[in-house]
Amino acid sequence: MHGKIAVPPPMPSVSASPASPRIKFWGTRGSIPVPSPETLRYGGNTTCVELRADGEIIVLDAGSGIRPLGVALDREFQGRPIKLSLLITHAHWDHIQGFPFFKAAYDSKNEIRIFGFDGAGATFREIMTEPMRSPFFPITMRDLSATMDINKLNEMKFSLGKLDIHAAFVNHPGVCVGYRIFTSSGSIAFLPDHEPYEFFLHVARGKQLSPAEAKEIAADQHTALVQFLRGSDILILDIQYTDQEYETHIGWGHGSVSSAVALALEAQVQTLLLFHHDPSHDDQMVDRMVESARELAMQSGSHLEIAGAQEGSEILLEAKKVAAA
Ligand SMILES: [Zn+2]
Ligand SMILES: [Zn+2]
Repeated sequence: MHGKIAVPPPMPSVSASPASPRIKFWGTRGSIPVPSPETLRYGGNTTCVELRADGEIIVLDAGSGIRPLGVALDREFQGRPIKLSLLITHAHWDHIQGFPFFKAAYDSKNEIRIFGFDGAGATFREIMTEPMRSPFFPITMRDLSATMDINKLNEMKFSLGKLDIHAAFVNHPGVCVGYRIFTSSGSIAFLPDHEPYEFFLHVARGKQLSPAEAKEIAADQHTALVQFLRGSDILILDIQYTDQEYETHIGWGHGSVSSAVALALEAQVQTLLLFHHDPSHDDQMVDRMVESARELAMQSGSHLEIAGAQEGSEILLEAKKVAAA
């Protein structure tokens, strides 16, 4: 029924065996960690998502959520070597700040491969190593015990084990990418920071383009992004603002409820997860945003599933496939 506001049911939280293909959210917040009784359900830690599939452990971004992930891996592996790949979307603090506190990096048995693109005015190696230097931090990246392998990405398509991974530059200040990971249990798109192209003409303005030229570029970029996302089973997307808040944050690099739903519908994704929650939003506010996103999807007659990403929640990829059948 339209117009009925109810608290959205929580995301499924299951305890999977380590081999089950799944996604786990360790940090869902944007900008800065906000631990508080008001953010308990959706979580206060910044961006970090773990994907287990096809024998790989993939970690998406290293916000403060990577700290509890490190603790959990330590408990799970009990001294056995941990091999994982960390994909970084961009250099903003909320996506790298947790790395110095990632327990897995402090054990010589472990192997950590880190992947990402050069940033604006900094190489990818600098992005990862500079924050871990005096006077910012007492231990340098080189002093970490684990085998660390920092890889600058040049290609927009690559593989890790059996997983094919595609990257796309998105609309966010500096250099920022989204990733789409193709597993044998479906594909997951991860765009934690992205502002819709159609409203964002600042880049074009800087290049002194006419409004018509800027509009055309924005439309082309949008079409390319829809193509990149098309048919994703799960889309984890930056929905930091309500539509009203977005009006006063144009150009800040983040998305809003209606633009995100429209993008998910256009790209025909199965499940949309609201992500990069604003630090000023408490759990009830995120509930309301999820509800209004569902209203919009329902009004369009779509079966798009929508939930707010919750720290500590897991999605079983196989279970999702069964549920969708
Ligand atoms: Zn961010
Ligand atoms: Zn950012």
